[in-house]
Amino acid sequence: MAPEKSNETTDANDQPRDTFECSNCGYRTQAEHNPGDCPECGGEMQNISRGRDT
Ligand SMILES: [Zn+2]
Repeated sequence: MAPEKSNETTDANDQPRDTFECSNCGYRTQAEHNPGDCPECGGEMQNISRGRDT
């Protein structure tokens, strides 16, 4: 019997989430949209996600 390899599909980026970083203190979080203010210091959150620079 030949052992069949399970063809696993690794979908690491399954969820369409972006990464946002606080421009003031560097706090990072992931969300589907801009959370607005930084929960740590109230600074401005910026989208730093990669792959949309075309
Ligand atoms: Zn902050």
